[in-house]
Amino acid sequence: MPLQGALSIDDRLLGRQVPLETGGPDPDKSDHVMLQRERISRIRYRHQFFSYPLSLGWDTVHKLGWPSLWRMSKGYIKARVAPRPEQSLADFMINRFGEPLYATFFRDYTTKVWGRAPEHIAADWGAQRIKSLSLGRAVADYIRRKWKPSAKAQDTSLIRHFWYPKHGPGQLWETMEQKIVCHGGIVRHHAQVISLEGNGEHHIKNVRIRENGVEQQLDADFVLSSMPVAELVPSVYGEECPSAVLETAEKLPYRDFMTVGLLVRRLSVRSDGRRNIVPDCWIYVQEPDVKMGRIQIFNNWSPYLVKDPDHTVWLGLEYFCQQGDAMWNMSDAEFLSLATEELVKMGIIQREDVLDGVCLRVPKAYPAYFDSYEKFPLVQNWLMQFDNLYCIGRNGQHRYNNMDHSMLTAMQAVKLIQNQEKSQQALWSVNTERNYQEKK
Ligand SMILES: Cc1cc2nc3c(=O)[nH]c(=O)nc-3n(C[C@H](O)[C@H](O)[C@H](O)COP(=O)(O)OP(=O)(O)OC[C@H]3O[C@@H](n4cnc5c(N)ncnc54)[C@H](O)[C@@H]3O)c2cc1C
Repeated sequence: MPLQGALSIDDRLLGRQVPLETGGPDPDKSDHVMLQRERISRIRYRHQFFSYPLSLGWDTVHKLGWPSLWRMSKGYIKARVAPRPEQSLADFMINRFGEPLYATFFRDYTTKVWGRAPEHIAADWGAQRIKSLSLGRAVADYIRRKWKPSAKAQDTSLIRHFWYPKHGPGQLWETMEQKIVCHGGIVRHHAQVISLEGNGEHHIKNVRIRENGVEQQLDADFVLSSMPVAELVPSVYGEECPSAVLETAEKLPYRDFMTVGLLVRRLSVRSDGRRNIVPDCWIYVQEPDVKMGRIQIFNNWSPYLVKDPDHTVWLGLEYFCQQGDAMWNMSDAEFLSLATEELVKMGIIQREDVLDGVCLRVPKAYPAYFDSYEKFPLVQNWLMQFDNLYCIGRNGQHRYNNMDHSMLTAMQAVKLIQNQEKSQQALWSVNTERNYQEKK
């Protein structure tokens, strides 16, 4: 989709200039358009905003105070001088940020996200998500930007602009579906894969699906699977699957997710030039007395996601949980009320400004890196033996892949098929490189 050639509605409202593509579509008139957005995320902690990823600019120093900064600097130097062996995520983070900074900004948030303390999570998660980011690099980036504001970010976490489809990421897939259909392809919605039949020699012969309650079998030349590994492995039959592989796969852990969409008249927190809103795409909630993990402000992703972006704000309030736990089992009304009260408590909104709300539950939102994950190589090696089964995406590889990496795995699978490549190593190597990282 082409980049915008005219200002979007909020660019105009805020008097903001963004680089425009000559001849690009006007987002007010065309739906087939990417918007150039500013990536602003912050941390909400002690009722204040901190930059995200954390940087040690004057603002942070001022909010944390010099004694804290002194402690954090000492802790960072200690971690650099005498790094720990990286057996857990805690070790990984402490080595890069120092113990005091880790304890202030990382430990509790990570526990909230995963339901486990970082001491009990494998260091791999850090290697995939944090990679080369460290306090030193964050500070260096801060200085570089002060010195030269146009400098490009060295780390993905520090990138400041991105392109976003006018109607959100789903629009990419709707566009892709149209193209597939145009080329004669068939896309089935709500068709659940219930089993895959092998020929006993690591080759999938066919796939059984259930569509609108009706089961049918489809012959398979190639299978690209993005279904959770924990469900894929037990659904393959006709192949010998060692019990250790099956057991490891079935016990793979996941973190589930609940979200509240809340429509409000205005936020109680503001920024200069903005009447009812702050500029963030995401706000990472580090307040210790709330369960909320993150706030999305959809107006800032794309104002076209909101019916009246000038007078209302559409928030996404994110919670991490386990299927069947107390939060998951709350009624929608209870959950809406919890989220609303937490926002009020944090000073983000006033109760009377809430106009509407909706709750969504997402099982297996995050593949987790603990428990049976330790033995995941057994499962991966078994899956890699198949000559026409390609595991792609996030849950498909049980890897904390972002959308770009998920897409890359699919592209890589297609490349392997086109090149009649036997080894699947390249497919499983996506997002293992050390120079990409997204966030803490
Ligand atoms: C809250 C949240 C925020 C995120 N934000 C970002 C972001 O800002 N940027 C970013 O890059 N990434 C983000 N991600 C990650 C991104 O969403 C994933 O990397 C990406 O969606 C993974 O793509 P996928 O195709 O592997 O999986 P999915 O998008 O989950 O698609 C898998 C599909 O397989 C289907 N499926 C599962 N089992 C079966 C079955 N048995 N039969 C048939 N179909 C089945 C599912 O219904 C689903 O539609 C976020 C994820 C979450 C949860």
